[in-house]
Amino acid sequence: MRRLLFSVSASLLCLGLGPGCATSPAPRPEAAARTLPASTATGRGGGAATVDVRATSAALEVLRSGGNAVDAAVAAASVLGVTDPYSCGIGGGGFLVAYLAREGRVVTLDHRETAPAGLERALLYENGAPLPFGELVTSGLSVGVPGSLLGWSEALRRYGSRSLAEVLQPAIRVAEQGFEVDATFHEQTRHNVERFRDFTPSAALFLGPDGRPWPVGATFKNPGLARTYRLVAEGGAPVFYRGEIARAIVSTVTRPPLAPGASRTVRPGVMRMEDLARYEAIVRPPVTSTYRGYTLYGMGSPGSGGVTLALTLNLLEAHAPASLSRAEFLHRYLEASRLAFADRNAFLGDPAFVSAPEAGLLSREYAVRRGATLEGTRASTTAALPGNPFPHQGPARAVLPRVPEVARPAAEEQVPNKETTHITTSDAAGNIVAYTCTIEGEGGNGMVVPGYGFLLNNELTDFDLPAAVDAPHPNAPAPGKRPRSSMSPVLVFKDGAPVLALGSPGGATIITTVGQTLVNHLDFGMPIEQALAAPRVSQRNSPDHRSQAEPAFIASPEAAALGELGHGFTDVGPMGALTAIRFHPDGTVTAAAEPTRRGGGSAMVVEPVK
Ligand code: GLU
Repeated sequence: MRRLLFSVSASLLCLGLGPGCATSPAPRPEAAARTLPASTATGRGGGAATVDVRATSAALEVLRSGGNAVDAAVAAASVLGVTDPYSCGIGGGGFLVAYLAREGRVVTLDHRETAPAGLERALLYENGAPLPFGELVTSGLSVGVPGSLLGWSEALRRYGSRSLAEVLQPAIRVAEQGFEVDATFHEQTRHNVERFRDFTPSAALFLGPDGRPWPVGATFKNPGLARTYRLVAEGGAPVFYRGEIARAIVSTVTRPPLAPGASRTVRPGVMRMEDLARYEAIVRPPVTSTYRGYTLYGMGSPGSGGVTLALTLNLLEAHAPASLSRAEFLHRYLEASRLAFADRNAFLGDPAFVSAPEAGLLSREYAVRRGATLEGTRASTTAALPGNPFPHQGPARAVLPRVPEVARPAAEEQVPNKETTHITTSDAAGNIVAYTCTIEGEGGNGMVVPGYGFLLNNELTDFDLPAAVDAPHPNAPAPGKRPRSSMSPVLVFKDGAPVLALGSPGGATIITTVGQTLVNHLDFGMPIEQALAAPRVSQRNSPDHRSQAEPAFIASPEAAALGELGHGFTDVGPMGALTAIRFHPDGTVTAAAEPTRRGGGSAMVVEPVK
């Protein structure tokens, strides 16, 4: 996303103005004078990769001053809350996977947004049908209790070496001094203009006095968010979950701050102070699987990425020998992904509410049976039915969910290309973090919390809504439940040594983007920077022979060869924006960020060697 360096045009005119402010671009030397940050860097001493040069720089600043990979990831995330506010921030949530080198173990921290205790399912239905998706997207009803801040504070308390007050400093600086609006930020604002105009604090923060997005080159400041981060630096997470920020969140959710004259129907939500006070960031064991000698650690439920990726790769290992041609291999990859998504959709949900047959889904025997159809040579032409993992479940308890035939799929299924962001960090001591965070859709709920400078999420649109209000579904909404997510931070090891850490945004395409990148790197031997740039294809159990794909994939020889096998492709534009770190046997690392999608990202290492 952000490839522009700090603007030198910061204007003092902005100081002390309203909730947000920007100054128009100052005249400056030609664009040629600007240096684009690198999307790949190799070296020692740790590294970081994000979509934004300021976030990566903040992580490096922390690493250089002796902070660890967890400190660096939180520093980067808090800067992204300023520079990438339409994708992530303290109004949202995330999944953090960390390798703790001294203890030699992997942990995951679930700080997914949660449905308020008063969010009875019936509130999301009217006249016997689910409320229109378009209404839920911008409504108090789709705001989940935000998890990011408790996630950051717990990550630092348990695994970090710096205080929240220390790691927030770079973000406070960027929010106060401002950053240069680039084409991506401008475009994302433009997509949201109608919604922002309808909410007084959102228009005041993100739009100029003429009600239009700030132009490219303007300096954008967020004094409200700087103040919020300072409050948190002084008072810790409680100020957000029990104090004045909690009150402001509840007030925004229950009395949406509509602009005078706005005609939008904005349904208020039911969040209360107790929902915030009760919020928990949960440490969960990773989903552990193996693939051709590698060990993978992914995110478990309510994330669906870990299990779905593990099942896809188990199916490939059982049914796709290395001797296949690339097109034959990709054919089996697409069919494996189809089967894995059929199972994901049928079984997975918040483990506090759903007892999914995860052990069965992850078993070798299940993959051998489930994938028999992969060995056919024609593309499937209908959606796959879920398999039966229950006989492979062993002693672990699981309950067969009764999945209704018709449910309005979750937002992350419907729209392939939304927002969210992924941060990857490592340090000199060998700790590693893969961290994906989100506010759900681009611009989240569209509602800025007045005076505090951050957008609220609309994560509860990630629940599926069955046609009938009482129909069972593993991902149906319920009070206190976390919606199923596709976010897929992953760590890969071999013989106990780290190989790769990665993740991506992209709604449900996150899982296929991460999966395809793993296959590109581990099976096809592409260097990581090439693997994450390669054209993408995504099969998520479509009702016909078509997979979604990027134009460059559709134009590729592989697509032509897959076409001969009956596959078809729908152009959905760019998918995802990965960041990754590759760990080399000589102790160096290559940090790599998406080179072009979403404007391209930034990767840095503490001591470059090339
Ligand atoms: N809300 C989505 C999820 O948790 C992520 C949204 C996105 O990547 O755009 O799976």
